[in-house]
Amino acid sequence: MSSLYPIGNRLNGKVALISGGSRGLGESHARAMIAQGAKVVIADILDDVGQALVAELGDATRYIHLDVTKRDEWARAVAFTLKEFGGLNVLINNAGIAHFSAIGEYKPEQWDTMIAINLTGVFNGVDASLEALKKSAPSSIINVSSIAGLRGYSGLVGYNAAKFGVTGLTKSVALDVAQFGVRCNSIHPGVIDTPMTSNVATRRKHVAMERTGRPEELSSLVVYLASDEASFCTGSEFICDGGESAGLAPNAFIG
Ligand code: NAP
Repeated sequence: MSSLYPIGNRLNGKVALISGGSRGLGESHARAMIAQGAKVVIADILDDVGQALVAELGDATRYIHLDVTKRDEWARAVAFTLKEFGGLNVLINNAGIAHFSAIGEYKPEQWDTMIAINLTGVFNGVDASLEALKKSAPSSIINVSSIAGLRGYSGLVGYNAAKFGVTGLTKSVALDVAQFGVRCNSIHPGVIDTPMTSNVATRRKHVAMERTGRPEELSSLVVYLASDEASFCTGSEFICDGGESAGLAPNAFIG
C-alpha cells in the first residue's frame, strides 16, 4: 500500500460501497479506507479499470458494475456487498460527471444526464442502501457534493444545480436516519487533481493555498467521516478546498 495512505485500524469492521470508485477520487478513497482496515466494494461503469484496481488491492476489495442511474443495478450492488462482506456500513456516493458550458449553450439533454447521474444517482444510492445501513449501524453516508454545491460558478449550470441538490438531500436524509444510527454528511472538494479536472485551468491565485488538491487530502476527510470518530457529525457540510470558498486570496488580482 502506498505511503500516501496511512496504515491503521480506524476502519476495522467497516464495509464500504463506493460508486464511481474505479479511478480519481473514488479510487483514492478506496485505497485510504483499505489502509485503515475497511473492506471495500468498488462500483463503477468503468469495468476494466475497476477490475484492474481490485486485482491490485487484493482480498479486501471487490468490483461490481454499477450505473448509478439504474435502480436495479444499485439493488444488485448492495446485495453483492452483503453477500461478499456480510454487511454495509459506509456508503460513498461519489460517481459524478462534469459539463462545462454556460446557460444558453447548455443543452436540455446535458441537463437531464447531469441530474440523472449527479443528483438522482445519489438518491438512488441512499434509497437502495438504507435498510442494509440500518442493519449494520453505526453507519455513515458520505455524499460527494462540491464547493459548487455551496456557491455559484459560471459555466457550470447543470453541475452547480445538481451539487446544490446533493447538499440539500444530505440534510434531509440526515434528519430522517439519525434515529437508526446512520449519519449522513456531504463533502465539498475544491479542485482536486483527477481525470475529471485535467482540463480545468490551473491558475489558482484566487485560492488561499494557490494550488489544486491531491486526492489523498480529501480521502483523509472521508476516512474520518466513515469512522466512528465522527459519531456526532451528521447533516453537515465538510469543505476541503485550500480556502477557495473562504473568499479571495491576496494574490487574486495579480498577474
Ligand atoms: P472522475 O475521475 O471522472 O471519476 C468519476 C468516476 O465516476 C469515473 O470512473 C466515472 O466513469 C464514474 N461514473 C460516471 N458516470 C457514472 C455512472 N452513471 N455510474 C457510475 N459511475 C459513473 O471524477 P473525480 O474527480 O474522481 O470526481 C469524483 C466525484 O467528486 C464526483 O462526484 C465529482 O463531481 C466530485 N468532485 C470532484 C472534484 C475534483 O476537483 N476532482 C471537485 C469537486 C467535486 P467514466 O470515466 O466512465 O465517466
